[in-house]
Amino acid sequence: MRIIYVLFICIVFCTQISSTFSSNVQSEFRIVTSFSLLQNWVNVLTRNIPSDISIISIKSLVPLNSDPHIYQITPMDAKAMEEANLIVTIGLSFECWISNFSSPSSANTTLLQASKDVEARLLPAPDPHLWHDVQKVRQMITNITRVLCEKIPKAATIINENARAYDAKLVELDAWIKGEIGKVPLEKRKIITTHDAFYYYGKAYGVTFYAPIGLSTEAEADSKTVALLIDQIKTENIKAIFFENLANRSIVRIIAEGTGVQMHEDDLLYADSLSEESGVARDYIAMMKHNTSLMVKALIKGITATQQTQPQ
Ligand SMILES: [Zn+2]
Repeated sequence: MRIIYVLFICIVFCTQISSTFSSNVQSEFRIVTSFSLLQNWVNVLTRNIPSDISIISIKSLVPLNSDPHIYQITPMDAKAMEEANLIVTIGLSFECWISNFSSPSSANTTLLQASKDVEARLLPAPDPHLWHDVQKVRQMITNITRVLCEKIPKAATIINENARAYDAKLVELDAWIKGEIGKVPLEKRKIITTHDAFYYYGKAYGVTFYAPIGLSTEAEADSKTVALLIDQIKTENIKAIFFENLANRSIVRIIAEGTGVQMHEDDLLYADSLSEESGVARDYIAMMKHNTSLMVKALIKGITATQQTQPQ
């Protein structure tokens, strides 16, 4: 009789543990981001959320080192979007390929445009490359943080702590970029890139960028634009020309050959995507530091070369 009683107590106890465990297990909160930078930011903001509060899965539609301007959605992407609780995009016509996808069928799916209420260049067309200005990234992080806290309220304290810590790093990054660019005289800060991705960087940090291709890497450069750019480079004695990690290199190569400005083919600017984990642009902060260091190095080298060729 005593053994039966002990067994009964054990069964009741185990059932209670099991039901307690079940009530604590959260279903997965699925976040889909359009491209790697947004995935990086969502990763940072949801860091250290215990699995008993929420299990977070984060997927980027456009893979690392791939071009978001010309991406095409796969059937797996469509499925991930259908199952997502939250879809995060930049907006400003950056992810036109998402608008071809029908609205999510689930009423639980929230669509967030990170660029909401962030001041953007709208002419000649909306310019989505806001991430090249750290201050604008701080605003986008605030937008993403607010929605994450609304959707995962139990994790709001941790998400807000992550946001505060990251914001401090962004403030530090912004000051670092200003300090680095400040090493080059204002009138010498002129750079050729492939596509028009660095307008916000130029405005924030006082650099003039010229690009033969427009806002999207999909566009083609016409020969008249290239010829005008070659003339401008010669007249203004511009010494820094860069390839980007994703864009077509042939146009920039033609410009370099037409002007005699030396290219450094391995020195790539990262405009619209992070690199692989082992690469130089493994996260947003690394990307901004890499781009800035490359640009400053090339500009200073150009100034030194000009001084050496001038008659004493
Ligand atoms: Zn771009």
